[in-house]
This record gives sequence, C-alpha cells and structure tokens, in this order.
Amino acid sequence: MTQSLRHRWGDPNRLAQKTERECTRGCGTIKVTFHQGGRHWVEFFRDGEKIEGKHTPVCVPVAAEAEHA
Ligand SMILES: [Zn+2]
Repeated sequence: MTQSLRHRWGDPNRLAQKTERECTRGCGTIKVTFHQGGRHWVEFFRDGEKIEGKHTPVCVPVAAEAEHA
C-alpha cells in the first residue's frame, strides 16, 4: 500500500494563457494550467523542467520549513 503526499497549491498566478500554482510544501513543483485555443490542460514543472507523465508527481518536500510565514 503506497501513500502519496498531496501537494498543497498556493495562490494562483493568473497569466494570459496559463495559470501557475506553486506547491507550498516546499517540493518545488509548479502546476501550470494552460488555456489556449479553447483547450485546457495541466502540466507540472520542477526546476524549470517539465515533469513527464500522465499522473500528478508525488510531493516530496525538500525543505523542512514548508510553511510560509
Ligand atoms: Zn508538493
């Protein structure tokens, strides 16, 4: 039985063609929802690189202080 940690997405940064949300747990993952040409899809990025895969990447906080003051 595997237990995956869920991300906790921060406030959305709404741009013209996409919305970015960064995980506040400190794992460095950014969830980007694209809105282009009437289509909508989600991609995940970490360290500026796209995370390949169909499923949401597991949340692995790298910093102990995941909480932002
Ligand atoms: Zn996370």
